[in-house]
Amino acid sequence: MASSSDRIANKKRRRNLGVILRLVFCPPLGLYLMWTRTGWPRLVKVGVSALIAFVIVLILTPMTDPPARQTGGVRVVGSGPQVELLGPEAPADREDIDIYTPRRTAIIVEATPTPEPIIVYCNTGGDYYHSKNCKWVKPTTPSVTLLQAVRAGYRQCPECDAPDPESVS
Ligand SMILES: [Zn+2]
Repeated sequence: MASSSDRIANKKRRRNLGVILRLVFCPPLGLYLMWTRTGWPRLVKVGVSALIAFVIVLILTPMTDPPARQTGGVRVVGSGPQVELLGPEAPADREDIDIYTPRRTAIIVEATPTPEPIIVYCNTGGDYYHSKNCKWVKPTTPSVTLLQAVRAGYRQCPECDAPDPESVS
């Protein structure tokens, strides 16, 4: 069975631990508790207070420093003239020529539409390619592109509105 002096010692230890934890995680409260609730030697209290004050100053100093000046996206590379012209002296009665440097170059590319392939109909073994509604086109007549038909040697049908072979481009 613990004597009452043991209990008091235990209580004191727990209190000291609590104060130390608060000193670490919440220094203002820890300092307050240390000064009011513990029987630590005055020298220790002063030392701990000074240490905490030092740490706080150390943490706050960079925050209170004036911020480094930002360049703001403009870099001054020089204040001299950008272009120096060397050559024979201009006649005195001539006016100065301004030289403009283009600031921006815009390249405009027009969208080229992809041409739709022209479809024609060619009977196997025939000489001509036809449009869809030609009388020579049967449901079984194969359809090809105009380019394929021209390359295979088919010619434009004279009896229907088959497209000109030039329109294959
Ligand atoms: Zn035809």
